[in-house]
Amino acid sequence: MDLTYSEADRAFRAEVRDWLEEHLGGEFAGLRGLGGAGRDHEALDERRAWNRHLAAHGWTCVGWPEEHGGRGLSLDQQVIFHEEYARADAPARVNHLGEELLGPTLIAFGTPEQQARFLPPIRAVEELWCQGYSEPGAGSDLANVQTRARRDGDAWVVDGQKVWTSNAHFSDWIFVLARTEPGSQRHHGLSFLLVPLDQEGVDVRPIEQLTGGSEFNEVFFDGARTDADLVVGEPGAGWGVAMGLLGFERGVSVLGQMVGFRRELDALVALARENGAIEDPVLRDRLAGAKVGLEVMRLNALRGLSAVTGGDDSSAGGGAASIAKLVWARWHQRLGELAMDVLGPAGLLARPDGTAYDLTEWQRLYLFSRADTIYGGSDEVQRNILAERVLGLPREPKGAR
Ligand SMILES: Cc1cc2nc3c(=O)[nH]c(=O)nc-3n(C[C@H](O)[C@H](O)[C@H](O)COP(=O)(O)OP(=O)(O)OC[C@H]3O[C@@H](n4cnc5c(N)ncnc54)[C@H](O)[C@@H]3O)c2cc1C
Repeated sequence: MDLTYSEADRAFRAEVRDWLEEHLGGEFAGLRGLGGAGRDHEALDERRAWNRHLAAHGWTCVGWPEEHGGRGLSLDQQVIFHEEYARADAPARVNHLGEELLGPTLIAFGTPEQQARFLPPIRAVEELWCQGYSEPGAGSDLANVQTRARRDGDAWVVDGQKVWTSNAHFSDWIFVLARTEPGSQRHHGLSFLLVPLDQEGVDVRPIEQLTGGSEFNEVFFDGARTDADLVVGEPGAGWGVAMGLLGFERGVSVLGQMVGFRRELDALVALARENGAIEDPVLRDRLAGAKVGLEVMRLNALRGLSAVTGGDDSSAGGGAASIAKLVWARWHQRLGELAMDVLGPAGLLARPDGTAYDLTEWQRLYLFSRADTIYGGSDEVQRNILAERVLGLPREPKGAR
């Protein structure tokens, strides 16, 4: 197993680093660090402009094949790009759902017409997307989707409700998992539809979160319409498309995420030095433990990458993705708890210089990281996957919950 980067990869890293250093100046200089988890409301328009600037220089969709407008980067170089992006503290991107989830799904399952219609505006950050999977009765149990769609002439007509839909309040389109065969059960009879949000039949209602922001929404469909040919894959076979999309989730951005975590940890250590918390042996021990945990996660992610690029995907059968999710989500929550303890009573105070009530970045980290063990497959669901599919333990009895 080789965990080092090649000469060409190191040169590529330098190219990305230099480009970001140069371009995150001028009009974009103030954007560093903005828009992270729990802070999606920050500088949205400016971040969109920054994303378009990235696109104009070919730095969006870097992993897409060149024939679809991407850079066709190798897996290693995609990871390097995400690492350098995080290292530069560049602002959170606004179209990761289009770029990392829907785009690869259309490339894998879409028709040439769908690819020609939708991939260029995703790449150019002209059309933003959100993900309409979860419903009030269908989260972990996604096959319980109840949103319905029926054909009416040359259109699909959609009725139902989605919930926890991140970014719907500023997106242009939503990809929807809907039941298109009346009376069908579970994962049968579902279709994967592309639906424009800006229409009368769609009502997007932001949900206020623990952080005070509204990163996600309820989305109501009441006779919403979309063209008949905007179904990805065969009608009724949407489950396979929906699962294919989830396979693209996270992937190469994991090592970039580790760089972001490291920045948070470094900032926390600096804070502990500044406010004297570092003198507390228990806090010092926990900070050191966080450092160890982060290094283990990073090396494990590198090991996974090295195995995949070396053609060995045996770790996938060992539940690597579930283990990684369980470990990073809990690590990040503990970091938020540690931040509150490092701050002590000051952690209870809102931003001191603001005239309005506003949370500090540490409070946002602490509160938003509660969601880490829920989205992208909750902890309990990950443990079920490991128990049933990896360890071969008896399946959970039906209705056990
Ligand atoms: C910040 C955030 C952003 C999100 N963004 C989106 C988005 O953009 N689009 C989208 O479609 N969805 C989104 N979601 C929704 C997310 O996918 C769901 O919250 C998740 O799938 C869990 O579903 P649920 O909330 O309905 O909880 P439920 O599935 O009802 O689960 C409730 C609790 O029961 C546990 N549980 C459930 N089933 C089992 C079981 N079989 N065994 C043991 N325990 C179980 C769960 O672990 C959880 O603790 C987002 C969620 C969050 C927190």
